[in-house]
Amino acid sequence: MYDCKKFKRFDNSSSLSSSRDLPIPGSELSGIHFALEFLHMNTKSLLDSNLQDGRYISAKGKEVVVIGGGDTGTDCIGTSIRHGCTSIINLELLSQPPRTRAPGNSWPQWPRILRVDYDHHEAAAKFGKDPRSYEVQSKRFIGDGNGNVKALEVVHVHWVKDARGKFQFEEIKGSEEIIEADLVLLAMGFLGPESTIADQLGLERDGRSNFKAVYGHFSTNIDGVFAAGDCRRGQSLVVWAISEGRQAACQVDKYLMKEDTTPANTR
Ligand SMILES: Cc1cc2nc3c(=O)[nH]c(=O)nc-3n(C[C@H](O)[C@H](O)[C@H](O)COP(=O)(O)OP(=O)(O)OC[C@H]3O[C@@H](n4cnc5c(N)ncnc54)[C@H](O)[C@@H]3O)c2cc1C
Repeated sequence: MYDCKKFKRFDNSSSLSSSRDLPIPGSELSGIHFALEFLHMNTKSLLDSNLQDGRYISAKGKEVVVIGGGDTGTDCIGTSIRHGCTSIINLELLSQPPRTRAPGNSWPQWPRILRVDYDHHEAAAKFGKDPRSYEVQSKRFIGDGNGNVKALEVVHVHWVKDARGKFQFEEIKGSEEIIEADLVLLAMGFLGPESTIADQLGLERDGRSNFKAVYGHFSTNIDGVFAAGDCRRGQSLVVWAISEGRQAACQVDKYLMKEDTTPANTR
């Protein structure tokens, strides 16, 4: 079996995106991993050997905490449960979304409402409750004395508008809590695409470090180089990747055929 305690955390997602880290005290302890490191190794081992080669970080018998409540966190919860974890908690810094559309979030905007995904159903079926806990900030990881994580200290927060109307969170005094955990998965989003290709080609980046290419055109500052999907728009959804991929392919075809590359809808 793969010994994840000897395994120092690294960003195994480097071929895709840079994961957002959580540089709080104790983050060097063993047993704390980026979500994509956990998911990637699991999928590879599953496809290579139906998990028989043991080359994955196992959640079996572990008390698992997943930090971050997006789709990546969802997959960490589902995978941990299927490995046979003994408990699962999902921490999210943001507030719990409302069950129905809030004022200011009307159609045709994407409804920002509470969703129950497959992993939440699986957690409820196995442990009797939804694993999500909202408005929680992680303060520090606590070790077992042998270099392994055994718990984390969190504090509850609430969100308030500051003088400029921007939402900020404030810690609630006295709400500190210790959560037992011997496997922690960091699923707090991504900081843009991995930079090797951009650096080598001299690709311009946007303010969020994604490859700069105007939607509809998809051409970058380097002649003959196009960008579409997550590396252009940031972490998004499969439907957007498919749509942008198709449109970009069309633009590439026009470029190669030396046709007018102005997108049809902007002519
Ligand atoms: C864990 C997780 C769960 C998700 N769940 C959902 C979900 O439930 N629903 C949903 O709609 N979306 C989900 N998403 C988002 C969705 O996966 C992405 O939006 C989508 O895959 C983006 O597609 P893409 O083709 O732009 O990029 P990717 O799918 O990231 O593909 C990029 C490809 O380029 C390759 N690559 C990178 N660098 C190089 C290089 N230098 N040379 C050659 N190849 C390279 C990578 O290996 C990769 O295969 C999830 C994402 C993650 C990480």
